[in-house]
Amino acid sequence: MNNFEYFAPKTIREAVALVKAHPKGMVLAGGTDMLVRIKARVWEPDVLIDVKRISGMDELKFSRKAGLSIGAGVTMRQIELSEVAHTYFPGLAQGASLVGSFQIRNLATVVGNICNAAPSADTAPGLITLGAKVRIAGPGGRRSMLVENFILGPGKTNLKPGEFVTGIQVPMTGNRTGSAYVRHTPRGAMDIAMVGVGAAVTLAPRTGICEDVKIVMGAVAPVPLRAKAVERLLKGEVPSDDLFEAAGKIAARESRPISDVRGSAEFRRQMVGVLTTRMVSDAVENARKRSGSKRRAA
Ligand SMILES: Cc1cc2nc3c(=O)[nH]c(=O)nc-3n(C[C@H](O)[C@H](O)[C@H](O)COP(=O)(O)OP(=O)(O)OC[C@H]3O[C@@H](n4cnc5c(N)ncnc54)[C@H](O)[C@@H]3O)c2cc1C
Repeated sequence: MNNFEYFAPKTIREAVALVKAHPKGMVLAGGTDMLVRIKARVWEPDVLIDVKRISGMDELKFSRKAGLSIGAGVTMRQIELSEVAHTYFPGLAQGASLVGSFQIRNLATVVGNICNAAPSADTAPGLITLGAKVRIAGPGGRRSMLVENFILGPGKTNLKPGEFVTGIQVPMTGNRTGSAYVRHTPRGAMDIAMVGVGAAVTLAPRTGICEDVKIVMGAVAPVPLRAKAVERLLKGEVPSDDLFEAAGKIAARESRPISDVRGSAEFRRQMVGVLTTRMVSDAVENARKRSGSKRRAA
C-alpha cells in the first residue's frame, strides 16, 4: 500500500477545491472497492478525499413528488432497510440488498457502486430502469445526468476533472409502475453478478397493456446495457407468459457477453433469457399489485 494523505471535507465547496487541487487523488466513500485496489497497488492515489463527512451526504430522503434522494454517503444497508425503497423502487432495493455481506453493505455506498462503473454493479440496472440521475458538483458548478449516460465503460464515468458525485435522484414512480432486479452468481453469496437483469414496466390504466418498459442487463457488456429490442417488443402488448418468454429469447440475442473464469458467453446468454423472462413478469406483477389490479398474466 502506498502512502497517501487523507482529507475529510465538511462542505461540498471544500471537497470541490480538494478534488480540483489533487488530480492524482481519489474520492473515497465506503472504500470497499477502493481499499482492496489500493492494497493490491492497482490504484496508488496520493490523496484520498472522504466525502462521507460532508453534511447531509448520509441522508436518504423520500418525497411523493420528487422521489428518492440518495446522498453520496448512503449505504446499501440503508436502502435495504428502507420501506419506501422496497415499496416504490423495488428494482433498486433488491439490487442493494444483494451486494456482498452485511459487513460490505454497511460500508458500500450506492454512489460508489455507480462511480466504480463495473458492468456487474448490482444497483446500476435498477437505477437505470427507474430513470435515476446522478448529481454532480465541480469547479464549473452543479449539473446532473442520467445514470445511463454516466457509466461509460469498466471503471470509466462521465465525470470531468475536479468533479465528484454528491448524490442520486430517483424520480417518483407512478402507482401503475413496477420494477424488479435479480442476478445470477456462481456462488450463493459474496460473489459478483455473472448476469443481472433489471426491469421496470408501466401498465396503461384501463387496458393493462405495457405502456412503458425499460430493461437493463448487467455483466453482459462493458456497460449495463439497455435491451431496446425487448422494450420495443413489449410496448403496447398485453402481458402474458408467452410474451415474457419471447422477451427472454430476444434479450439473450441482444446481450453481448464474454467468456471468462466465471462463466461462458453461451451460459451467460441463456441466463439473460431466463432472468429477463422472470424480471419482466415480476415487474408486471409488482405494477398490478401497486395499482390494485387483480388481473394476472394469461
Ligand atoms: C467482499 C466484497 C463483495 C462485494 N460484493 C458486491 C456485490 O455483490 N455487488 C456489487 O455490485 N458490488 C460488490 N462489491 C463491490 C463494492 O462493494 C461496491 O461497488 C460498492 O458499492 C462500492 O461503494 P464504496 O462506497 O465502497 O466505494 P469506494 O470503494 O469508496 O469507491 C469506489 C470508486 O468510486 C469512486 N467514488 C466513490 N464515491 C464517489 C463520489 N461521491 N464521487 C466520485 N467518485 C466516487 C472512488 O473514487 C472509487 O473509484 C463487493 C466488494 C467486496 C470487497
